[in-house]
Amino acid sequence: MSRSNQSIGAALAACEASLPSVVRIGRSQRRGIMLRFGHVSRVLRLVPLTVAITILPFAGRLQGLAVAGDAGESERSVEGRSGPGGEKTPEFEVLNLRGQVVWLADAMARLHGVKTVPEARTRVLALETAGGDLYPLAEDIRGRGFRRDERLRDRPVELTVRKYYGAPVIQVIRAFEVRGEQRFELDYWCDICAIAMFELKPCDCCQADIVLRRRLVGPDGRVRD
Ligand SMILES: [Zn+2]
Repeated sequence: MSRSNQSIGAALAACEASLPSVVRIGRSQRRGIMLRFGHVSRVLRLVPLTVAITILPFAGRLQGLAVAGDAGESERSVEGRSGPGGEKTPEFEVLNLRGQVVWLADAMARLHGVKTVPEARTRVLALETAGGDLYPLAEDIRGRGFRRDERLRDRPVELTVRKYYGAPVIQVIRAFEVRGEQRFELDYWCDICAIAMFELKPCDCCQADIVLRRRLVGPDGRVRD
């Protein structure tokens, strides 16, 4: 390492600040980090499971994630919200939707002949299903990933999403590229820091370039390394 201790400290602070977006740490790489960055590794070891980390932002709220079946099939799960009397009121459902992520304005023009103003063209992303249904994406960090990287758009994908009742918008929880019968989970990876991120940008930790990672998902829904 050619960095000074001070800059390493700053980088570690950035790593810790980015922990919610950390997805998975490889074993050998994690050992490397533990040797060099003791206190960070202690934090990272708190989140060792892919699934647990993937749903970390929603911990305690999701009842379950649907696992994709055949193309076009969607399983549903509903999470409850406590009302004033303690009763559970459904707030959203979790769906697996297949299609391609597109600009909503382009799709509206192509599918329905709706002309939008030029400045609206890249304002909203949407999932377009094979049947022509359009689901606008909530642009949180996962949603913004489709804006920042054109490689994620206009190609077959499956999205595990939250669909809130009363809103047409979907919130992306997991994203998969679909190739034939196979699914590949999509995220971004920094080889130096061995951390994953949800959108294309300089690494949260070392500021180096990160790479788009595609990991094969088995029939059981688990990622295969
Ligand atoms: Zn890095």
